[in-house]
Amino acid sequence: MILKSLELQGFKTFPDKTTLSFERGITSVVGPNGSGKSNISDAMRWVLGEQSLRSLRCSKMEDVIFGGTPQRRAQGFAEVTLTIDNADRALPFDNDQVAITRRYYRSGESEYLINKSTVRLRDINELFMDTGLGRDGYSIIGQGKIDSIVAAKSEDRREIFEEAAGISRYRYRKEEAERR
Ligand code: ATP
Ligand code: MG
Repeated sequence: MILKSLELQGFKTFPDKTTLSFERGITSVVGPNGSGKSNISDAMRWVLGEQSLRSLRCSKMEDVIFGGTPQRRAQGFAEVTLTIDNADRALPFDNDQVAITRRYYRSGESEYLINKSTVRLRDINELFMDTGLGRDGYSIIGQGKIDSIVAAKSEDRREIFEEAAGISRYRYRKEEAERR
């Protein structure tokens, strides 16, 4: 599974459609303070289904939408698309390319899409389960994440190992089955 690109529109500091293409190897983002570097990782987390306002550095979900500047009007919605090369079928989806999109309107309406088809948030969560990349995955190591893993309760820490071992899906299915 390889990240191919991240497309942002109306997300935080990105009022215009902006596409970041990731080549093989390491990509680093440099820029002055406040120029929007961390907003890119916020976008990555957000499109993967992040709901925690604190981890998105927002006080309300509307704060992900470009809020305007003296020169530019605010946008009405934010949209982020993450495109993943799935030739190795690391994601349980039978397509060489998987593009996930999240859209959020000021009205509070939100949409999730996989390859342009509308899905539910839980479909996104299930798609990434056991891959390490999802909302609760360990692929995005933000500030303080290592500390929080070390300080976590043992049950919470076990979840991280279960995700890495690829058994989160089975636990999830078992819990779903028990709920019915
Ligand atoms: P540093 O080097 O200090 O970590 P950075 O490049 O990571 O900086 P970010 O934290 O990504 O910067 O961007 C912060 C900027 O994003 C702030 O100027 C803030 O006003 C702006 N910003 C955040 N949300 C919005 C929004 N909804 N609309 C417009 N601007 C926003
Ligand atoms: Mg930053």
